[in-house]
Amino acid sequence: MKLAFVAMLVVACSAGEPGPGIDVDRALAHARELVGMGPRVGNSDAAKRAAAYVEHQLPHASRAHVGTIDLPEIRVLGTVHRNAHRTVTSDPNLVARYGPRAGKALLFMAHYDSVPASPGAIDNAAAVGVLIELARVLDESPPAMPVIVAITAREEDGLIGAEALAAELGAEVDFAIALDLIGGDGDLVLNGAGMRIGYAEMRWLAAAADRAGVALRAPLAHRVVSRWWPQAERSDHGAFTRRGVRGVHFYHRGNDGELVDRAYHTKLDRFERIERGSVDEVGRLIRAIVDEPPPEHDGDGFWVPQLANVVVPRWALVAFAIALLLVAIALLVRIGREQREDERGAGLLLGSACVAVAFIAVYALERSALAEHPRAWLHAPAYFVIAEALVLAGVIGLASRLVARVRPWIGARRYLVVAIGVLLAFGVFWLVVGAAELAWIWLVPAASASIAPLLGRARVIALLPTLLPALLVLAPSQLREAAWNGFAPATMPLVAWVALVGLPPIAAAAYAFRRHSGPLGTFLLPMGWALSIAIGAAMEIRYESPCSASQFHQLHLTCEISSGV
Ligand SMILES: [Zn+2]
Repeated sequence: MKLAFVAMLVVACSAGEPGPGIDVDRALAHARELVGMGPRVGNSDAAKRAAAYVEHQLPHASRAHVGTIDLPEIRVLGTVHRNAHRTVTSDPNLVARYGPRAGKALLFMAHYDSVPASPGAIDNAAAVGVLIELARVLDESPPAMPVIVAITAREEDGLIGAEALAAELGAEVDFAIALDLIGGDGDLVLNGAGMRIGYAEMRWLAAAADRAGVALRAPLAHRVVSRWWPQAERSDHGAFTRRGVRGVHFYHRGNDGELVDRAYHTKLDRFERIERGSVDEVGRLIRAIVDEPPPEHDGDGFWVPQLANVVVPRWALVAFAIALLLVAIALLVRIGREQREDERGAGLLLGSACVAVAFIAVYALERSALAEHPRAWLHAPAYFVIAEALVLAGVIGLASRLVARVRPWIGARRYLVVAIGVLLAFGVFWLVVGAAELAWIWLVPAASASIAPLLGRARVIALLPTLLPALLVLAPSQLREAAWNGFAPATMPLVAWVALVGLPPIAAAAYAFRRHSGPLGTFLLPMGWALSIAIGAAMEIRYESPCSASQFHQLHLTCEISSGV
């Protein structure tokens, strides 16, 4: 079993030969044609023209009436995101069938509408172009299983076309795949993999990606979100997922080297932004998917983050997390037993006070530096994380030196216990709420740090992983993506994020570097800490935001690429 995993890793990490794809030139020509029609808002003339174009280009297309649709309420964590309501549309879905008629079908969807004012190139003309060309391939060489291609109406205002399609075809569909936000320059990612998508389904998709020579990845937290809140899926597959039909969504994660597309839903979503290579990649992936029918569901799975096309059974992930947990707890107990009550001196309480003072100072600085535009740090998260880390380290350093002049520090192992305890608390929280996909980020450093006392001078190596949650959570692209997708509370200051993931490495550092005496401790170090504070503070105060608060309020990160959208 273990060897099989290793073999899978090796296979998955080597880039495969590109498999056959679709006619990219023609797919791009379709996209250009649709974009040229301008915004294709529901029930508009442009939407009607787009539907007519698709009907003309999609082999064997038939118009499927959408008409009156009752949209259900969407509620997440007690908050109503959409009220239940009825809507009427005159825009049709365009549906075409290929291969045998008997048996359950594989369904591909892409919506042809766009939001008002947006030419809708990456969202979603490129995907429509890709599916029209997939359909031509399927028409010329019919697939072994029934395949339905549906170009849907009015995805943008409530998955309306897909709701009609799911109500009508739901029972006929084995697996539904939505292409939405295709053609950006970021990773091609698997999204919307909810409860019904397990190990077998992921292996099926990963094997197709391997055959296509395409790297398919899954963002860290998306699987968690999709399992918790299937009602909130934001693309056409969601209408099927809600009805118990297996479904996923593929998209290109971001543009301009980011995990977000700042032109999304704006007039900047122009044809020129579509990447030819990305269109080709999606074409190859979906052609490979058509070659093998979807498998029977067989247990849950875990799409290993960062790596391409690597899937392990979910039990392996949970077992790994529990093993880490047990190691950390066992060693924590051992550390506790060895803890001796030393002579009276500065201990955990004073250390915590130093850290609290530092965080308050950083918070005050952030408030004053960003008074005009409280979220300006989102324009340059790395810059602000560095600035705040400098101030934080400086204040903690100075305060702890001051305390040390009065009372000697004792019980350094307590800091280690704090570091491990905080990491364990987060790890256990994620495990308990069913998000093993995230638990390992805290449990790996917890287990690693608990080994530190056994390593003597090499303990720093075991403590380095305490930085892992900070590196992942505070990664600029991750912070911007979380904020863009509404997962980060708008009012949360950066310092709160830093505090959330910063405590374990701070406590670990207090444990690792507990002794410094002589001239270094009394003169050079305090000078260094003071300099650190000065540099960090100057960085924050001198920062000039590319957008005003009102521009940001109106346009979010889009304000960075255009002030006149
Ligand atoms: Zn879309």
